[in-house]
Amino acid sequence: MNILVINAGSSSLKYQLLNPETGDLLAKGLCERIGIDGKFTYKPQIAGKQVLDAVDVAMPTHSEAIQTVMNALVDAENGVVASMAEIDAVGHRVVHGGEAFNKSVLITDEVMKALEDCIPLAPLHNPANITGINACTAVMGKDVPQVAVFDTAFHQTMPAKAYMYALPYEYYENDKVRRYGFHGTSHKYVAGRAAAMLGKNIEDVKLISCHLGNGSSVTAIDGGKSVDTSMGFTPLAGLPMGTRAGDLDAGILEFLMNKYGMDIKEMVSILNKKSGVQGVSGVSSDFRDLENAFKDGNDRAGLAVDMFNYGVKKLIGSYAAAMGGVDAIIFTAGVGENSASQRLAIASDLEFMGVKMDAEANAVRGKETVISAADSKVKVLLIPTNEELMIAMDTAAIVKG
Ligand code: ADP
Repeated sequence: MNILVINAGSSSLKYQLLNPETGDLLAKGLCERIGIDGKFTYKPQIAGKQVLDAVDVAMPTHSEAIQTVMNALVDAENGVVASMAEIDAVGHRVVHGGEAFNKSVLITDEVMKALEDCIPLAPLHNPANITGINACTAVMGKDVPQVAVFDTAFHQTMPAKAYMYALPYEYYENDKVRRYGFHGTSHKYVAGRAAAMLGKNIEDVKLISCHLGNGSSVTAIDGGKSVDTSMGFTPLAGLPMGTRAGDLDAGILEFLMNKYGMDIKEMVSILNKKSGVQGVSGVSSDFRDLENAFKDGNDRAGLAVDMFNYGVKKLIGSYAAAMGGVDAIIFTAGVGENSASQRLAIASDLEFMGVKMDAEANAVRGKETVISAADSKVKVLLIPTNEELMIAMDTAAIVKG
């Protein structure tokens, strides 16, 4: 079975063709500058096939982008499948499913209507995801099943005490203001892998999953269900991120807006684009740059990383308390998979709660590894995330019924 996984943005579209049963990747790539001029990247994973790297292809809309992907995948010389008939289904990453979707769904006219209803919750992302679905229908026809896999769905198991904000109740009832959480596909994937690494049923383990990348979130997973997560109504909440502020005192907004005569648009733009580790350090949103700058004597770069690590550590402590214990802590995504020093800083000095790191085992990158000491009561796991494989697996499961 071959599943095409699509992650559509407003002017870009990432794709992978993979086999969810074997996990084999056949091809991946991306369409960029859709609606501007169009650049196409194609990376077949079969030896001898030609790679295309940001070549010019006119893409006035997402439909031409999908058509370009199809042409490459079935190309007689450099394609990876013989015809479109060998693509069994399409799985779409959809950012926001609101309260309507607690799991992945087969896309129908009714589902499309519900996705439209979720646009106010994710005005930048959901319209692009919908455009991607429509483009696939236009190019592939109505007979190829398409599935929506939501960033928010995994977190729909949170109890009300975790997802409610202490605002007047009508904002929840009338306006759906609540914590939704994001990165759900990643948290779900690594939780499944963690249970396998521990040799336990997922129903029997308490996990804390730390997805630390450009955007970061931490999730408490009890018996395979998300019970709390650090992102909120939007992905602006929780940890300080590359350029996002994370949690802060809402009173600061009024103070700064009054003092500098800013409107809410300017303020929110600062919170999303000029804050986080970039804002604190004044150096970069990339943790590698921060580490280098700190080595060169830039204390603010060091402070930014310290603040981030401290934020993760506090979430680990609070989620262990929330679940009444923890069996394993998972590190994933760009920072979690690659930065041994940050993993060590986050998970050190937690011996009081049964976490003991193994510095030697921790000196590893990007592969599934137990990085805690043999006698650590709580296991610490490095697990590379694979959201595309999770989307393909969900899509296959739904298509097979
Ligand atoms: P996104 O949220 O955009 O998917 P990723 O999960 O790819 O982000 O994470 C990207 C981040 O990972 C980069 O900003 C970079 O700071 C961090 N990163 C990648 N490699 C390393 C490394 N070796 N050490 C520290 N940080 C790293």
